[in-house]
Amino acid sequence: MNTDFDYSHPRTQVRFGRGRRDETGEVAARHGDDALVVTTRNAMQEAGFLDDVLASLEEADVSATVYDDADPNPTVANVVDCVETAPDAEIVVALGGGSPTDVAKAAALSLAVFDEPPSIEDVWTYASGEKRPEEATPLVALPSTSGTGSHVDPWAVVTRADERAKVGFGGDALVPHDAIVDAEILDEMPADLAARTGFDAFCHLNEAYVARGSDALTDANALRGMELVSRNLRRSVEGSSEAREKMAVADTLAGFCEATSGTVATHALAHAISAYEPDVAHGDALASVAAEVAAYNVENGDDETKRRYGEIAETLGFPVADRKLDAPFVVDTFREFVAEFDLDASVGDLTDATPEELAENAAEHMRLVLRNNPVEVEEDDLVGIFEDAY
Ligand code: NDP
Ligand code: MN
Repeated sequence: MNTDFDYSHPRTQVRFGRGRRDETGEVAARHGDDALVVTTRNAMQEAGFLDDVLASLEEADVSATVYDDADPNPTVANVVDCVETAPDAEIVVALGGGSPTDVAKAAALSLAVFDEPPSIEDVWTYASGEKRPEEATPLVALPSTSGTGSHVDPWAVVTRADERAKVGFGGDALVPHDAIVDAEILDEMPADLAARTGFDAFCHLNEAYVARGSDALTDANALRGMELVSRNLRRSVEGSSEAREKMAVADTLAGFCEATSGTVATHALAHAISAYEPDVAHGDALASVAAEVAAYNVENGDDETKRRYGEIAETLGFPVADRKLDAPFVVDTFREFVAEFDLDASVGDLTDATPEELAENAAEHMRLVLRNNPVEVEEDDLVGIFEDAY
């Protein structure tokens, strides 16, 4: 355990509770009176939640412009269009999963740093890591999935289609000021969305737990989060409201872990898959490589890394005492877990891109995340992992 560390806790004021979307107006009004509301095309409209949020804003005398064209796996072009919709907004409200939340974050940054609505190249100077975000228009996030932790973490994930680059970028400026976690919104998730987003949350937790960036306080959030996933994901997928509330807590703890520790090679490989196949959902991409990354890390990792993967397996209900803690054991654990949730597609099922192409893409666009892997991993190693997962 790393007991020599700096710990920076996320700044978000988080409100948990059913029906609390009605507080959006009151929260937003503290930051300004002209809001840009960001969501995807159908789900929040059909369930009436967009209307609820707009009514709450209106009641608080906050005017609202809606951008409801965010793609799943959102693009930099989405960000540009979003900012053009309301170039004078004083506050950004994200209603939806990680996709609209990340568009909202990049839009909040753009509103603060550019005088005119930006071009794709302008936004890319930040997304590519060339410049670091130092300010952003205040953001209120209402998550509609329990997966990305984006409502409390400092990252935004966007894809630049012409470069086939899916990248994460951010900094403290992109941490939302407020998050409203209203489980009535989460209750609307269909089973497959609850499963794949729940697996994303589990990856943030287990990756943060083994990452080089982990520390003693992150460990507490990660272990408790994994325990909540293990106890509640099955029932959440079956539709239990109570289990969905618990998954929302796990997702929030996972977001804290992403802020204080971060992800490892699993996320780097998954981003390469979605860079080639924008229609492949993030959770599906993660599930196709998670077992093989864990096996690589156990095979090549130090004793502490191995011990941590053993704890992860135990949290999932696979006692290490029954078996030797080696790569095959870890592969079995992860594979059984993903199969239980019908997330057992292989990389070759998801894309025709070759292991070499995928490895090159991950090495080029996910350098920082790869550096956070507990074991050194070069492009050749990534090819091997992709081959195992193909
Ligand atoms: P999305 O936000 O992409 O949501 C997928 C689709 O699910 C939406 O397009 C929407 O449909 C539908 N939907 C969302 N919520 C509900 C609901 N409550 N009920 C019914 N349908 C719903 O999914 P994720 O939350 O998984 O976000 C994925 C994105 O987040 C990826 O780009 C991923 O890389 C990124 N990510 C970001 C992280 C971060 O730290 N910032 C961390 C991890 C992942 P419709 O379009 O029809 O409205
Ligand atoms: Mn993720």
